[in-house]
Amino acid sequence: MTGGARVGIGYDIHRLVSDRPLILGGVRVEYERGLLGHSDGDAVLHALIDAMLGAAGLGDIGELFPDTEELYAGADSRVLTRDVVKRVGAAGWTPSNVDIIVHAERPKLSAYKQAMAESVAGLLGIDGARVNVKAKTNEGLGPVGRREGIACTAVVLLTSSLG
Ligand code: MG
Repeated sequence: MTGGARVGIGYDIHRLVSDRPLILGGVRVEYERGLLGHSDGDAVLHALIDAMLGAAGLGDIGELFPDTEELYAGADSRVLTRDVVKRVGAAGWTPSNVDIIVHAERPKLSAYKQAMAESVAGLLGIDGARVNVKAKTNEGLGPVGRREGIACTAVVLLTSSLG
């Protein structure tokens, strides 16, 4: 199915634990805790991957990179993201723009939003102006509000590279 444009949405959440680095959108964020996961726990890139796979009709991250697979233990999510960009490209799609919401009570992410946008743009091979990163607290509500985890919602628009 080619031609025109396709939109996709992705969501992910990971638990915050001690003794892990906090990596969001491929960027190391200074904080006393990090995200637990089979891979590096980068909820931003995982949401982005699911948004791209959804838009291209290629399934989801769990099908592609099972967390039961030893190969992906401690995986750098940037590598997984580049792999998905290639798969999406092979299916005839190019990322047009990305909108990301990081749901985090702490740490404050305003100083990192630009770096995250540039990191994501670099992984997708698009201009930094095509990636928007928003950071929101959860107003103290739920697991994110209690600082038990960090979640991310991503929306991606793909356009046909076949014209
Ligand atoms: Mg994940």
